[in-house]
Amino acid sequence: AAMRKSRIKRTKTVCTYCGVGCSFEMWTKDRQILKIEPSAEAPVNGISTCVKGKWGWDFVNSEERLTKPLIRREDEFVEATWEEALDLIASQLTAIKEQHGADSIGYIASSKCTNEENFLFQKLARAVMGTNNVDNCSRYCQSPATAGLMRTVGIGGDSGTIQDIEQSELIIVIGANAAESHPVLATRVKRAHKLNGQKLIVADLRENELAQRANLFFRPKPSTDLIWISAVTKYILDQGWEDQEFLNNRVNGLDEYILSLEKFTLEYAEEATGLAKEQLIQVAAMIHEAKSVCALWAMGITQHMGATDASTAIANLLLITGNFGRPGTGAYPLRGHNNVQGACDFGTMPAWFPGYEPVQDAGVRKRYEKAWGVDLPAEPGFNNHQMVEGIQTGQIKAMYLFGEEMALVDSNSNHVEAHFEQLDFFVVQDVFFSRTAQYADVILPAAPSPEKEGTFTNTERRIQRFHKVMEPLGDSKPDWMIFQELARRMGADWNYQHPSEIMDEAARLAPIFAGVSYERLEGWNSLVWPVAADGTDTPLLYRERFAFPDGKARLYPVDFTPPYEAGEEYDLHLNNGRLLEHFHEGNMTYKSEGLTHKVPHPWLEISPELAEQRGVSDGALVRLTSPYGHVKVRAIVTDRVRGNELYLTMNSMEEQEAVNRLTSSYHDKITHTPNYKEMSVKMEVIEES
Ligand code: SF4
Repeated sequence: AAMRKSRIKRTKTVCTYCGVGCSFEMWTKDRQILKIEPSAEAPVNGISTCVKGKWGWDFVNSEERLTKPLIRREDEFVEATWEEALDLIASQLTAIKEQHGADSIGYIASSKCTNEENFLFQKLARAVMGTNNVDNCSRYCQSPATAGLMRTVGIGGDSGTIQDIEQSELIIVIGANAAESHPVLATRVKRAHKLNGQKLIVADLRENELAQRANLFFRPKPSTDLIWISAVTKYILDQGWEDQEFLNNRVNGLDEYILSLEKFTLEYAEEATGLAKEQLIQVAAMIHEAKSVCALWAMGITQHMGATDASTAIANLLLITGNFGRPGTGAYPLRGHNNVQGACDFGTMPAWFPGYEPVQDAGVRKRYEKAWGVDLPAEPGFNNHQMVEGIQTGQIKAMYLFGEEMALVDSNSNHVEAHFEQLDFFVVQDVFFSRTAQYADVILPAAPSPEKEGTFTNTERRIQRFHKVMEPLGDSKPDWMIFQELARRMGADWNYQHPSEIMDEAARLAPIFAGVSYERLEGWNSLVWPVAADGTDTPLLYRERFAFPDGKARLYPVDFTPPYEAGEEYDLHLNNGRLLEHFHEGNMTYKSEGLTHKVPHPWLEISPELAEQRGVSDGALVRLTSPYGHVKVRAIVTDRVRGNELYLTMNSMEEQEAVNRLTSSYHDKITHTPNYKEMSVKMEVIEES
C-alpha cells in the first residue's frame, strides 16, 4: 500500500471554471485524475468546491485535444511541426504589418489563461508588433462594471473580499445568478443569511436560487435597473438618510448629482420599472437600517446598452449611504471566468498597460519603453468589437486569438463568423478545435492549467498560484512558451525560463503588483492587489482614500438608456445565463463525461401562462427567431420566469442551440459590451413533446 500511495501525486491547483477562485489539491497517477481534495487552508473556499471544480477535469485527457499545430492547405488542415507553424505566423504577420501597418492586426487574449500569459501577450502586441489592438473577453461581460467603478471610486475591481460579503448586514444582488455562476460564493451568502441573520435583497427577471431565499425579491421590467436604483437613492436623500459625514469628508460632486436625480421620483420609477412604490421604499428603508451594505451584480446589469451607467448608479447609491471602506460594505461585480480579473489587470486592454495605467500617459509609456527598449504606440487600440467591425472596413487584416471561443461567445455570431471569413490571416491557439478555429489559417495546440505553472486572479483581486500537475499532452505547449517562441522569431530577445520571471517583470513595472512574487505565493498563500513593495496586500479597498489624486470619490450623474427594440413581431423578451453544470460556451465542460451526462443540452424556460397561451407543452421543441438568426431548443415550463419572459441557458456546443445566433451587435455606449440581455424573439413550436 505504501508503494501504491507513493505513486500518487498531489498538486495544488486553482479552479479554471469561475471567478470565485477555489483552490485545491489534484490527486493524480500519471495522467489519471483520481480526485480533487480541497483544504481548510484554501483562502477562498476552504473545504468546499462546486460540481465543476470537483468533476470538471476530464477534458484534460479528451481525445479531442489538439496535440499538433495545424496549417490550412486549401480547405483542409494538415499537421505541421512547431517550426513550420511559427515560421509561417512570423512571416505572415511581418508581411501584413509591413504592407498595412501595425494597427492592421488584432490580438484577442484569454481570461481563462494565466496572468503571466496575458502579460506576455500584451507585450507581444505592444512591444514586438507595435500596436495597442489588444483586448480580452471582459469586453463581453464586465467592462461596464469596471468603467462604472473607475468613474466613481477609481478602481475597477471588487471593493473587498468574499469574507466582506459574508460580514455584511445587507446584501443586494442585482442581475446575478450567483448560485449557478459563482456557486461557492453563493453558498457563503446562503450561510450568512441563514446563520448570521444577514438580509438579502434580490432584483432579477428570473426567480433564481438566491431569489427564492431573499428577504425581498422583485422583478423590474427588463433593462430598467438604473431607474429603480436611482429612485431609491433619491428617496434616501429626500428622507435625509444619507451619510452626511461620509459625503462631506470623502465624496465630491454631491450638488450636481442631486440635481441629476430630480426626475427619478417614485412615481416615475413605478411607471418605468413596474415595481410598486412601497417596494422601493422598503428597499430604501432596509438600506437605511443596515450598518453595512454591499451590492453584487453581474451580466444582468452589464450586458445592456446603458450598462456602464447602471453600474455607476449602484456605486452612487453605495456612496450616498457611506457604504465603502468598511468591512461588509462595497461594490462587487462578480467576475465570470477564472481569470477575467487578471487578464484585465495584466494589460490585455486597448487603453491600459498592466495595472490600469493609461497608454496615453507619456510618463508611464516612458517607463515601459525604457524597460522594453522600444518605442510604444501612444493611442488606445481597437477593442474586440472594433476589431470585428474593422475587418469589414479593411482596417483589420489579420488576427491572433488564444483561449477564446469568439465565434460562439461574441454577440450576433452569424455576423462575426462572416467577418472572420474575410481575414487575410488568422491564428487561433486553443486546447480544442473550437468553432472559431474553423476560420483559422494556423491552429496552435495549447496546454490547459493542469499542464503548466502560473497564477490566476479571482473576483476579489486575489492572486493565487497553481502548479504543474502533468506534462502537456502531445506537442501542446503552455501559451506563454508559444508567445516567447514567436516573439523570438520576430526579433525580440525574450528568454523567460519560468512564469515567475514574467511575474517579476510585471511587479517591477506596474505599481499595483510591486510586492508580488512567486515566493510570497508559495503553498496556500495568496495576495490581494494592490500589493506594496514590502508584500502588504489590500483585501479591503478605500479604507482611507478613494483611488483619485485628492483621495475623494466622485458621484457621477447618469441617465437611463432605453433598451434596443427588435420590432413588434419579436414579441417575447429573451434573457440568458449560465448553468451550474457547464462553464461558459461549454468547450471544456461538455467534454467532461459526468457533467454532460447530467446536463447534455441547453434548454429554454417558459412561463406557465405563456405556455398555455401558445400551446407549448413541457419538453416541446421550439424555434426562436430574432432578426439575426434562429435556434432550436427544448422548452421547460417553469414559474422561475413569468409572462413573456424567456430564459435560455447559454452554454451550448451545438450551433443550432447557441444563444448568440440570436443576439444583436448593439452594445453599451461607453465600453462596447454587447447588449446580450436585451433580445426580443418570436417563438414557434416545431415538435410537441
Ligand atoms: Fe470552481 Fe467556481 Fe466552482 Fe469554485 S465555485 S469550484 S472556482 S467553478
